[in-house]
Amino acid sequence: MTRVTPTRRLAHHLRVRHDEDCLASGLEVWATPDIVTWDELIERLFALDRQAGRLDGRWVPPSAASVIWERIVRDDPDLDPLVSSAGVARAAYQSWRRLHDYCIPLDALTGDDSPETAAFARWCQQYLRLLESRGWVDAALAQTRVQAEAAQPGLEFVGFDQLTPLQEALLERWAAAGLPVQHAPALPGGGAACRVRCLDFAAEIDAAARWAAELLHERSDRRVAIVVPELRARRETVRRIVERVFVPSTGMTGGPVPEGQAFELAAARPLVEQPVVAAALDLLDLFVRPPDLQTLSRLLRNPFLTGAAEEAAARARLDARMRRFEGPGLGLAAFERMAAERGCPLLAAALTAGHTALSKWPEKDIPSNCSKNIFGLLTSLGWPGTAVDSAEYQAEQRWRSLVSELGACDEFTGRVTRAEAVGLLREMAGRVLFEPQELRVPLLVIDPETSAGMTFDALWVCGLDAARWPPPAAPDPFLPRTAQVRHGVPRASAELAARQSRRVLERLLAGAGEVILSVPEVEDDAPLLPSPLVASIPTLDLPAQWLAPRLAAAQYARRPALEAMVDGAFPPITADEARRGGARLLELQAACPFRAQAELRLGARALEEPGMGVDAAERGDLVHKALAVLWLELGSQGALLALDAADVQAVVRRAVAAALAEARRTADDLLRHLLDLEAAWLEARVLSMVDADRKRTAFAIEDVEEPYSAQIGALTLEFRPDRIDRLADGSLAVIDYKTGANAEVRAWLDERPRLPQLPAYVQALGAERVSAVAFARVRSGDTGYVGVARDADAFPGLREPGAKGWPREYASWEELLGAWRRRLEALAAEYASGDARLAPDPPRACEYCHLGALCRIAETTAARAGEDGGDE
Ligand code: SF4
Repeated sequence: MTRVTPTRRLAHHLRVRHDEDCLASGLEVWATPDIVTWDELIERLFALDRQAGRLDGRWVPPSAASVIWERIVRDDPDLDPLVSSAGVARAAYQSWRRLHDYCIPLDALTGDDSPETAAFARWCQQYLRLLESRGWVDAALAQTRVQAEAAQPGLEFVGFDQLTPLQEALLERWAAAGLPVQHAPALPGGGAACRVRCLDFAAEIDAAARWAAELLHERSDRRVAIVVPELRARRETVRRIVERVFVPSTGMTGGPVPEGQAFELAAARPLVEQPVVAAALDLLDLFVRPPDLQTLSRLLRNPFLTGAAEEAAARARLDARMRRFEGPGLGLAAFERMAAERGCPLLAAALTAGHTALSKWPEKDIPSNCSKNIFGLLTSLGWPGTAVDSAEYQAEQRWRSLVSELGACDEFTGRVTRAEAVGLLREMAGRVLFEPQELRVPLLVIDPETSAGMTFDALWVCGLDAARWPPPAAPDPFLPRTAQVRHGVPRASAELAARQSRRVLERLLAGAGEVILSVPEVEDDAPLLPSPLVASIPTLDLPAQWLAPRLAAAQYARRPALEAMVDGAFPPITADEARRGGARLLELQAACPFRAQAELRLGARALEEPGMGVDAAERGDLVHKALAVLWLELGSQGALLALDAADVQAVVRRAVAAALAEARRTADDLLRHLLDLEAAWLEARVLSMVDADRKRTAFAIEDVEEPYSAQIGALTLEFRPDRIDRLADGSLAVIDYKTGANAEVRAWLDERPRLPQLPAYVQALGAERVSAVAFARVRSGDTGYVGVARDADAFPGLREPGAKGWPREYASWEELLGAWRRRLEALAAEYASGDARLAPDPPRACEYCHLGALCRIAETTAARAGEDGGDE
């Protein structure tokens, strides 16, 4: 007799139980029991009926049916283009299955006026027409057609909380045709049950894990389970807490440990999320569509590619280099050359082999050939490497069978392009849920639905609060609500949801000799009430040993008295370091001493993020280049004033073209188009800047981007001011071009000047020679000069120390220069002494800093808040 289960996990569980029973009774060999899920049974019966000539038609596997639904939904002209057709198709295919499982007639769809149901009705008609015209039969339709003969010698149903109306009707028909059909006896039940209250979800899992550990410590052959609603979504939290109890060393080594050593989390995730499968899809994508820099970067970090371990360091360096120097147009061939030249010969060889394999794969082909070529391409790239662990091996095997399933879709999809074939595979891997096979560990953590039909020695059920048991109604979005309620679709209404929850809870209570139900008291600070379904279960106070403090808390409570010391210093700089640096050094030291030391002395720089088009830093460079070219050509305001408007336009255009020339040389079509837009923006901004220069008093260009050096405290710093103008009285005005929003006079007036470049340039040129410093702001709608001058008449538009509204502490130009000198020397002294305090100034400086993970400012701030009696 064939046993039928609702889940694969239960089928596996029953097989394992059977093996254990046979072993315990002294058998050495025994027949493998025939145990299948409902879907597997239908597919098998359809095949047998077809062989026997009782049915005709061609079986459409679920993966092919999904592809057909996706195409129907995607090609629907009425579907909002912003909606993901793949996601909608997945939901619609489930609704199609539900429609049949609950015997809802297709006619019911036509009486409903919701747009979702109308669209679904359209898709159903199309799908049915296609299936009928080709003689195809999918799993939903096959359920209504398979015959009792194929199911001989009989069926036994195990673990179903409730049969669907279609299953009931079918069993009735089969029983009438003489097929023996049995239902496994209800679970024995009758064990002791009690309920406990825990503070929150984390406390529930923690207490449940301690309870399980205690039981298993007493007798390790017990079968113990913790049932967690919504386990898939909470998987990582659950894992972290259970691991801390069962494998405390992970709290110190950082974990996680491989599952199966102490417990198993039965929460299947989509196959596409398994790293080994995601890596395979990335590799395929690389060859079937033009790769962007992110894809190439992921390739360099792909651990399942040939030579990943041997070339790890070289690939990391190549990644950093590519992010810094390469543009979006870097193709696979150029990347392959780079790999060969930069210490990654194994990678380069794998890519060459990949190209050879790709050449055998026609651009468009039937899926069965695509499937062969996909295997060939992955093999040539060395996927999945030689160091896969057990779970990765199982995921790899499931992926291989998925590629084979794609190969069986010839009839359903026709010829597809390479990119379409890989896209189909990605879709299929997103739909397939995968979990490694049960590893016979003593503790199983499982969700309520998947635990159907299983029995344990002891069971803990979490999350029995009123908001979750029963859960709120969640009707199917495509089926008419009234039809769903009439046909009993679970969760179609609050009443149906309550009925289903009651059934599941009864089954769980009967599933073990000892059952503990836990209820959280709060969630996100909101109080929770116990579920009314557990009102009659006696309450128990949590025993102290299940409340034992966590290992980390226990260690913390017994910590020895420590001497507190904040080590915020690097070694003082060497003589050599004292000669390295420029304006950036002062700027970083002013913003945060740790950042200056880490960036400039340890080289802690962020990896560049490759992006499309011209980013803010590149735009700043272009502005500098264009204005440098312009003023080197003009030489003075007089020369500018001598030109008419057309000539000025021509000079500016030449300067902009010169600035963009280098970027244009290596640009692809798309980037060239973006550079055209950039040229128009740049020309307008430079013309506005020229306008501002026309309105100034007379000046001549003294220097453009020439190097200067200055001794500031113990440091000898190198500078390159953007521009120096000689004013009519012979004094100098120093100018710094800025495209950002933060160029203001205020940036020079704090104790730690936020933008200390211009004050530092004054030191380099000699304070007595300079009479004005100015930011030239080059921004849309905000182009012009801001700054400060000894005499505002000599540089109109700048502010003059001592004038109305000017801070009193700098009553004159000389006092301002004196304050700058002192502050710059203080910053230089801090840097030279190795001062590396975490002292961001202003505190929001951290928002623009990439070193948070290195300096751990968040942890430090939290710790300080704790010391200060903060409320966190
Ligand atoms: S994140 Fe903040 S504290 Fe840390 S280095 Fe950057 S600026 Fe300093």
